[in-house]
Amino acid sequence: MGRFPVVGTGRRSLSSGNTPAHPATASASSADGADTATDQGPSWPVFRRLLLDYVVPQWRVALVATATMLAYAASEAAFVALIRPLLDDGLVAQDAAVIRFYAALLVGILILQGITFFISQYLTGLVGREMIKRLRLTAHDRLLALPQAAFDHLSTGQTISRLTYEAEQTANASTKAAITIIRDGVTAVLVLGYMVYLSPRLMLITGLVLPVIAGLVATINHRFRQLSRRVHHAVGSVGTVAEETVHAHPEIKLFGQADHERRRFERLNERSRRQSMKFAATRFASVPLIRLTVGIALAITLNLVTLDAVVEALTVGTISSFIGAMLLLNRPLKGLVKVNADLQKGLTAARRIFEIIDMPAERDDGMRTLARAQGHIALDGVRFSYDGEREVLHGIDLEVAAGETVALTGPSGSGKSTLVHLLPRFYEATAGQIRLDGVPITEYRLADLRRQFAPVSQDTTLFNTTVAENIAYGAPEGASRAAIERAAEVAYARGFIEQLPHGLDTEIGEDGALLSGGQRQRIAIARAVIKDAPVLILDEATASLDTESERYIHAAFERLMAGRTAFVIAHRLSTVEGAGQILFLEDGRIVERGTHAELLARNGRYAGLYRMQLAPQGGRSG
Ligand code: ATP
Repeated sequence: MGRFPVVGTGRRSLSSGNTPAHPATASASSADGADTATDQGPSWPVFRRLLLDYVVPQWRVALVATATMLAYAASEAAFVALIRPLLDDGLVAQDAAVIRFYAALLVGILILQGITFFISQYLTGLVGREMIKRLRLTAHDRLLALPQAAFDHLSTGQTISRLTYEAEQTANASTKAAITIIRDGVTAVLVLGYMVYLSPRLMLITGLVLPVIAGLVATINHRFRQLSRRVHHAVGSVGTVAEETVHAHPEIKLFGQADHERRRFERLNERSRRQSMKFAATRFASVPLIRLTVGIALAITLNLVTLDAVVEALTVGTISSFIGAMLLLNRPLKGLVKVNADLQKGLTAARRIFEIIDMPAERDDGMRTLARAQGHIALDGVRFSYDGEREVLHGIDLEVAAGETVALTGPSGSGKSTLVHLLPRFYEATAGQIRLDGVPITEYRLADLRRQFAPVSQDTTLFNTTVAENIAYGAPEGASRAAIERAAEVAYARGFIEQLPHGLDTEIGEDGALLSGGQRQRIAIARAVIKDAPVLILDEATASLDTESERYIHAAFERLMAGRTAFVIAHRLSTVEGAGQILFLEDGRIVERGTHAELLARNGRYAGLYRMQLAPQGGRSG
């Protein structure tokens, strides 16, 4: 039996306690092959889309950010350029006025650098945060508009991770890449240009050393990425096992698997520690290693400077400026070497969010409005298949008068839930026609159609909020306290609600964890009362309730069903004897239909099942 999805409301998550998947957990589960298609495809379209849809709308902020990044790059180059005149014209020439001038200029440049650094970082952050917000909003809007079939294939953990962690990843990695390309790129070009200007010969020599440094940095970065992936995966596995321990604790206890779980956790926990330490070791080794390489490069350069051909044209200022420039190049070059990796990380995450955003929305092209239906429903030769291959409903014909109760019975998997899911168009019939008040349901506006149905099931999703808010969820436009109380009364829920510590204002825990099955069902009934829809879809509890709860629930059902069309999925036949018509489904076909008395007289499948269910009380009868 499928959980009946919430009908007719756009809102889905009142819950404050939804468990977001741990980012690493989600990335770990993506490693187990759930969605591998995402890493493929060219990067350019994704990049273009990010730029056009999420950066261009903020072009003013992005423009100022770029301008300040350029100013920052210029100030870095200016800083190096300052060294030569300061040394040659000031210190070597012993000119106090020049020294004072350059000292003041130095402070001026540092102030400019500070200001442009702050503004450029702040504004890029702003563009990034806005990008995250819009990505999340667009993806969430799409989730709300997806057809039910799409949810059959979406993994909850993956989806949560895409909207939370991967949206962050997209913006963080791509703003970082933008800063590197613009700021560090321009800095490098300016500083390298200045070095050529200072001494083309020295530059030539340096040109031979720089690739060695770049190569080393690239190797270290590659190792970093590898280790970082492993650390992520390891942390993810720890998260997954912890999650399973929380969810599966009854099974762990009853099947005596605590030791097994502890060993599994211990192994993964240890792996996580080892990977993290490898990561840390590489990181700590990389800093001195890179410094050493730079130092060696510097020493080689200094040695080459002593060659006659080079030395003659050089002043103290030129050499100092040159060395300063080399040291300064270190950071932007490092950034530029790994910018592609950052960009790819961002684009991969973006691709995964776009996958959700690009999923086709539910068809909603009916034009007809409908305030309140009478509740007459007809099905003509309705066929349905979930996957386009195996048909699960084979030509259902059915006519239900307004206000009539139809009971759907039959073995598990016979298509009862599927049939009722077609009515509010959670799934579209693959052939045949369904009419509400004589009009094909596809002609109505989807929201109007769904307003006509109210679901009641023990599996109804309850939100992690108060009883009152859960009942009021039935009315998207809001419900008064008096209406909520009345609904609770009609649903025979008042008694148990009053016993709760804060009555209607009691928080009921994640998915109503603090309530019993029977209580959940009565909240679901109260919710349906508030909705006041002309057609009900009742899914009887499969779990047996105690006689008293069951009596209350049936009394509540009776009250709710009065004057409404009702489809009742019945698992225990004793409860449907009074239905206007009873359908017995088998393998996607209605094999028997009639009233209780008619079906008993026919002595077929229904009668057989009925007798079998009565057997424990009435003794074996045939
Ligand atoms: P139960 O009494 O156990 O709830 P049911 O009579 O309501 O069963 P359905 O849930 O309608 O049966 O299932 C009918 C058939 O469709 C089954 O074979 C089931 O495996 C298949 N089915 C149900 N839901 C889906 C789905 N979302 N995707 C693919 N197949 C599905």
